[in-house]
Amino acid sequence: MKRQNLHCHTSFDDGCDAPEIMVIAAENAGLDSLGISLHSPIPGEDAWCCSDADEPAFLAEMRRLREKYAGRFNVWCGLEYDLNSDRRSVPPYDYIIGSCHLLSGLPIDYDPETAAHLIAYHGGSERAAQLYYERLCTMADIPEISIVGHFDLLTKYNERVPLYDTAAPVYRDAAVAAMEKLNAAGKIFEINTGAISRGWRTTPYPSEELLQHLKSIGGRVCISSDAHKAENIAFGFDQAEALALRCGFTELWQFDGTGFAAEKL
Ligand SMILES: [Zn+2]
Ligand SMILES: [Zn+2]
Repeated sequence: MKRQNLHCHTSFDDGCDAPEIMVIAAENAGLDSLGISLHSPIPGEDAWCCSDADEPAFLAEMRRLREKYAGRFNVWCGLEYDLNSDRRSVPPYDYIIGSCHLLSGLPIDYDPETAAHLIAYHGGSERAAQLYYERLCTMADIPEISIVGHFDLLTKYNERVPLYDTAAPVYRDAAVAAMEKLNAAGKIFEINTGAISRGWRTTPYPSEELLQHLKSIGGRVCISSDAHKAENIAFGFDQAEALALRCGFTELWQFDGTGFAAEKL
């Protein structure tokens, strides 16, 4: 089976390493192709997003890498589009991941303290979850988005600080409704191991329960590391593949240069 990661970050946003270092790490880790997904520019959020001024340099570097590695290793130029950014088109990007990192301008996944503040600001975790998943639903109307990024990002800290009761009907109903709407719009869901490599979780996003539901409605998945360091480029892929199989998925969806195709798991 070919292995592909379409979600990682570099020194052009909040990652540590240059794009070429990530490409070399991906080859060495046994991946067959790599997509680097730039955090889309958001005014005032340059600490973790690419700036508008730096976006052309990222695109130029990705063109250079694609040509340099052509015929040997496929390098794709992706965008992790945040719903708070200006709309972006494909091309110049090869594909777009849609994510929501802010709710009412407050960070969802900065640290447990700010995550707790976000809940208090919205009047409780159930209301915050409803608003988050309603916001995710808007991606259904953005055809440029192919992949839903870290679907249940809200639960990043839950293993250490149980901020959300994911078994509560309000939470589950909101998550399932968003999942069904995004799946009906043809979105692919990533099984994202990023919070495991950063020490916050022991399992990928989405939760196994939500992945089982996704399978039951005919959903499609890919696997990504959301790596911010070269050493994590394929972090947790064995675990994510085992999880996908356990939930009944028999194929992963991978970008092939023109669109997404199934790769047998
Ligand atoms: Zn993200
Ligand atoms: Zn990311």
